[in-house]
Amino acid sequence: MKNMSGTQASLKKTFDSRAFREEYHCDEPLGAFREEGRTVFRLWAPTASEVVLRLFARGDGGGPPEQFPLSRGERGLWSREIPRDLDGVYYDYLVMVDGETRPTADPCARACGLNGERSMVIDLGSTDPEGWGEDKAPPLPPEAVIYELHVKDFSWDPASGVRPEWRGRFKALTQAGTTLNGDGVHPTGLDYLKTLGITHVQLMPVFDYGSVDEGGDPGEYNWGYDPVNYNVPEGSYATDPRDGAVRVWELKEAVQALHRAGLRVIMDVVYNHTYRLDSWLWRTVPWYYARQRGDGSPSDGSGCGCDLASERSMCGKYILDSVLYWAEEYHMDGFRFDLMGLLDAPLMDRIRRALDKRYGPGEKIVLGEPWGAEPPAVRPGTRLANKGNLRRLDAGVAAFCDDTRDAVKGSLFQAEDAGFVNGGGLDAEKLARCVTGWAGEGLPAKAPSQTVNYLSCHDDWTLWDKLSAVSPGRSEAELLRQNRLAAAILFSCQGSLFFLAGEEFARTKNGVKNTYNASPELNRLDWGRAWANEGLADYYRGLIALRKQLPGLCDKSPGAGARLLAADQFTAGCAGILLDNAGDSPWRRLCLIFNGGEDTVDAELPDGLWDVLADGDSSFRWQAPYQLQHSAMLGPASALILGQR
Ligand code: CA
Repeated sequence: MKNMSGTQASLKKTFDSRAFREEYHCDEPLGAFREEGRTVFRLWAPTASEVVLRLFARGDGGGPPEQFPLSRGERGLWSREIPRDLDGVYYDYLVMVDGETRPTADPCARACGLNGERSMVIDLGSTDPEGWGEDKAPPLPPEAVIYELHVKDFSWDPASGVRPEWRGRFKALTQAGTTLNGDGVHPTGLDYLKTLGITHVQLMPVFDYGSVDEGGDPGEYNWGYDPVNYNVPEGSYATDPRDGAVRVWELKEAVQALHRAGLRVIMDVVYNHTYRLDSWLWRTVPWYYARQRGDGSPSDGSGCGCDLASERSMCGKYILDSVLYWAEEYHMDGFRFDLMGLLDAPLMDRIRRALDKRYGPGEKIVLGEPWGAEPPAVRPGTRLANKGNLRRLDAGVAAFCDDTRDAVKGSLFQAEDAGFVNGGGLDAEKLARCVTGWAGEGLPAKAPSQTVNYLSCHDDWTLWDKLSAVSPGRSEAELLRQNRLAAAILFSCQGSLFFLAGEEFARTKNGVKNTYNASPELNRLDWGRAWANEGLADYYRGLIALRKQLPGLCDKSPGAGARLLAADQFTAGCAGILLDNAGDSPWRRLCLIFNGGEDTVDAELPDGLWDVLADGDSSFRWQAPYQLQHSAMLGPASALILGQR
């Protein structure tokens, strides 16, 4: 163990070195593994001089633990076999480094007790709900329409009709047959999700996070971007956070119920930072998993002061193994990487390849935010998975597109800044970029497969609150028109489609921009509002159903941009796009016209007869199209989606 103690700065040098990687990179399985009659514990701790295993009867409190020293093997691996099946037994470690002993849970734990303080040995097979062996995701859709959902938001509202003891928990995702205040007429919850036509539900963090006391008030709230145990579900969403098996079982039940409802499940993962610098990873190998500046202080690309050093081999391996574990054990169908721009690009490519190899090309979605909060301190030569490097990433790694987001509704940094739909002007050239997913030579993406289009997500104002902020004093009818136009543009863009739960019913958080730790009352889906704004939700439904019939927009290939035939500017606020729609569809060409201006526009149409598939009032015109020729009238804030046979 030469050169492995010392100052923070010298540790950075050691851990960044090739010599360290060659001597200590360890591919052995890590964690606690039990079988009939024995349990093996394995921990990677190359800088430790002593490791002691402690066994507890309970996940918190209780009597003094049994203690067992681990022995050091090759490559920094510590292990110990106990000749007992320890299923359901809680444990942690005492790790001594540089003369200091730190208690730590197992960073590779797959179950834990209350608040994740102690790990738990688990027989995973016994946590499978009935029928789990046959659980299968619905078939891969040609187009992903992703719906971003927070577990607690989903069912916190009593009007959801969800059983009171399940509200705010995983179990709520399994309850079929709920209606608004139990009226038996207006579906809520799981049944409501089935009506939308969405293909994927993206769950905001469901791994164990630290900002909510699992034994505290059920009304404690957080989005959950503060990981504690990466490979364990969050306990505050379980009906019993004290029994380590319950959260595992209940998250699997939720995934199974969503699959049965015809929905795939994407998991939001936060591998860019930990809740605190003093994480289990840190306590096991101090500083190894932490990105550091030259002086040894922690890098702060995440804005949380504790970035993970994904470019270090055991850190990258930890992240890859964790992703594969969730895919395998919980049947997750995709992963959304928080601040993906802080992770190294080669790691994202390895994740993409490993998922493709194991499950088939494209079966599992990989998407992420191609940015960080601040520039991180990384080992020189590290290529990050950010927007500037998107083209050099695998074509199957997709990124949220801030260009289209801001173009349509205005910047998220200034409340009053307007976009296409609310008086900011609608530029044909920029619209063409949006429609082709900002893909092509000199643009961020190499193909629309790398583009995730969205107008709202959990961050920042809801779309409704942003529209209200840009145009104060506008009537609800006017804002609804702007919202419909925004949705029509969104669903006319090549790339994957994404929206925040409730965007389709004008969800509001009363203008509050960042609600990460606000009350569940402010964050919850308001099921009364969902039905009060049924018309807007129907407009989304129609667009989703129409989209699936438009191969010109679903095309994810590098050649998709060539489908753009023309872009026309009619007025400063009104522009149109002509698109080749060859493929399995009744319409061979599409004409998209959007009027974000104040005045009615008489737009000249390309030659021939055009079916109106959607207009400013209805997105279901395609069911019985009326026809237009020569020209079309567009009222203020309205869209026309036209198809030519
Ligand atoms: Ca927790």
